[in-house]
Amino acid sequence: MIGAVIGDIIGSVYEWRNVLSEDFPLFSKYTHFTDDTAMTLAVAQKLLNDRKGVSEKAEIAYAAWFKAYYKRYPNAGYGAMFSKWAQSGELYVQKSYGNGAAMRIVPIGYAFDNIKDIKKEVEASCYYTHHNAEAIQCAYAVALAVFLARSGSDKSEIRNTVEKQTGLDLDFSLNDVRGSGFSSRSKESVPQAIVAFLESSGYESAVRKAISIGGDSDTIACMAGGIAEAYYKNIPDEIVSKAYGYLDGSSKRLIKDFRETFV
Ligand SMILES: [Mg+2]
Repeated sequence: MIGAVIGDIIGSVYEWRNVLSEDFPLFSKYTHFTDDTAMTLAVAQKLLNDRKGVSEKAEIAYAAWFKAYYKRYPNAGYGAMFSKWAQSGELYVQKSYGNGAAMRIVPIGYAFDNIKDIKKEVEASCYYTHHNAEAIQCAYAVALAVFLARSGSDKSEIRNTVEKQTGLDLDFSLNDVRGSGFSSRSKESVPQAIVAFLESSGYESAVRKAISIGGDSDTIACMAGGIAEAYYKNIPDEIVSKAYGYLDGSSKRLIKDFRETFV
């Protein structure tokens, strides 16, 4: 799931300053990790805890880790609706259709060995923050793509299975959607991320393509990067070591722990 984190880090400076090209510097002095990374770490932490035998209702466990990671990284750039929920002392259901559910979902694609369990876990992760059919459908699409990619499916199998299982339309090219403007709606960023991966030729290519269409760049690159890592199984060393420089010790330990347990 480091592929998702690195996609977010690289995309961080392009969310509000879109580059509609694949030719841009991967890192700059303004590069940082954002909410996509913080929440991906929260999901990874929940899944690791399950393996350690901590048993808690999944919906509640996700909500607790989202709130804990929000507290740990309060300035990571969350949306207003999520911030309000995360800061609240109460646990209530929000019906967001935003891509916040899909941006953090990559670890789930590694933690289960069948589609049914992945779907169930995705729904649990969405229960409190994204109680919405579109958000769940799109989060499931990303988790499913990661699962298929890491299990050896080729790109046409991934495209067909994701379309069939989720009903999403992946039959377009990045050229069709480049420059459509900013949207953090699930349906206007998740299919785009999957197609960026499908059109890519390697990890770096997937991230560059994801950012090249504009829009919610850190999140699109996070999702495309997460799928691309699962598929290509290789991220250039210099990109990994550079990106690690933006993470703190506990994040790096968690990523290592997750990798040793699930990857
Ligand atoms: Mg973000």
